[in-house]
Amino acid sequence: MLSDFFALFYPNLCAACDKTLLKSEVAICMECRYAFPYIKDAQLQDNALAKKFWGRVPLEHATSLIEFQKEHAIQKVLHSIKYHSNKPAAIELGKMLAESIIKGGHNFDLLVPVPLHPRRQKERGYNQSELIAEGMQEIMKIPLDNKLLSRNSYSSSQTGKGRMERWDNMETIFSMSHPASCQGQAILLVDDVLTTGSTIEACAHTLLKGPAKSVSAATVAAVL
Ligand SMILES: [Zn+2]
Repeated sequence: MLSDFFALFYPNLCAACDKTLLKSEVAICMECRYAFPYIKDAQLQDNALAKKFWGRVPLEHATSLIEFQKEHAIQKVLHSIKYHSNKPAAIELGKMLAESIIKGGHNFDLLVPVPLHPRRQKERGYNQSELIAEGMQEIMKIPLDNKLLSRNSYSSSQTGKGRMERWDNMETIFSMSHPASCQGQAILLVDDVLTTGSTIEACAHTLLKGPAKSVSAATVAAVL
């Protein structure tokens, strides 16, 4: 029934170029998949993304699949996921991200999507990061915990605030429930796009207060 709903709004059109999909294609056409600006060093330990977090939060590993470029296909796809509930595109990108992580030889125990505030999730009807994590789960075959983290503040906008104020905000923006469940686990945080990294940083700070072995982050796209 849910797939019928999506089919109504996405009658087999590519989420990136609007071209009619072939029967063998899902959500994003082969041509667009081929043309995405993939991040080449994404699986290396000291990649550009990992360096963004140096001196901020001790992430075990940070990776992303596609370089985010405004007005480009990837922005259109992420928009269709975030605002038009294009679940098939989220699942496909999640699978692609997971395949690149596995190729890089990295292993994780638990997927944790960056949560939306409950009010935001109610408005939107879903959490796009959770949909991406569901796609990753299909490939990685590890558990997904969408209750471990919760977001306390409705607005995540941190622009215009001073450094100290931002820090205070970051310390309280997320909280963790049932921390004992992540004892000794290598957690992989999942989000759609990484810009400044402040959301991942805040989530990781919260998770690192618990008994997890390590915290890493993976996003579909990133501003490098
Ligand atoms: Zn396309």
